[in-house]
Amino acid sequence: MANPAPAYKRILLKLSGESLLGKLSYGIDFESARSVAREVKEVHGLGVQVAIMIGGGNIFRGKQGIDAGMDRAAADQMGLLATVINGIALQEALEQEGLFSRHVSAVEIKALAEPFIRRRVIRHLDKGRVVIFSAGIGSPYFTTDTAAALRALEIKAQVILKATKVDGVYSADPMLDKKARKYAEISYLDVIKKGLKVMDSTAISLCKDNSLPIVVFNLNKKGNIRKAVLGQQVGTWVRS
Ligand code: UDP
Repeated sequence: MANPAPAYKRILLKLSGESLLGKLSYGIDFESARSVAREVKEVHGLGVQVAIMIGGGNIFRGKQGIDAGMDRAAADQMGLLATVINGIALQEALEQEGLFSRHVSAVEIKALAEPFIRRRVIRHLDKGRVVIFSAGIGSPYFTTDTAAALRALEIKAQVILKATKVDGVYSADPMLDKKARKYAEISYLDVIKKGLKVMDSTAISLCKDNSLPIVVFNLNKKGNIRKAVLGQQVGTWVRS
């Protein structure tokens, strides 16, 4: 049977560092990385170009350093390096699944990853290589969510698929509040006004100003990336 037609030609998948945690409380569970890689392979097989922005929260977030008394810029630089470590693991997992990939770091670290050159990244995608972005936008005071929005716009991805550990965007934290209800769709403005924790406000604003849709979905349910790519209802749409 022919493959179903994907709804997008090019996507940006935002993976938090937590997506590589598995059952660990810190670091990288390589089997989880491989499981993500298998799902990426599935959508890549549908003919979709895939870029991934990887976070670093499983290893280090700037906030941890700030809380311990560090200067924010230095703490964030440690967070940036954590994402590079994850990028290396994810590339290894993708290649073990038989995908060709390129690791692109926003902080120059030549022996490990390519620098970000927009046209080169687009060429990699056109050639069927999965591109992993690490080191966010390369500057402190930002998150990998904002970096995901920025890179998605630069490479003209049609959607951001934001992987989380819950089923979508809820009116309150579903882990804490039983009455929390899930939105099928919500506007960028409502996300900001209601202070919902979808992405940070810089990221949401960037998406809003450029009409870049976001799908928030649960990564722990197998097949969700595929469903999202096929345009099926999965999680919550954030759009105008
Ligand atoms: N970070 C940064 N600039 C960026 C992206 C990330 O300084 O453009 C730092 C920041 O300290 C952040 C850490 O890297 O806490 C890890 O990224 P993030 O918290 O977004 O990871 P995730 O929550 O997605 O795992």
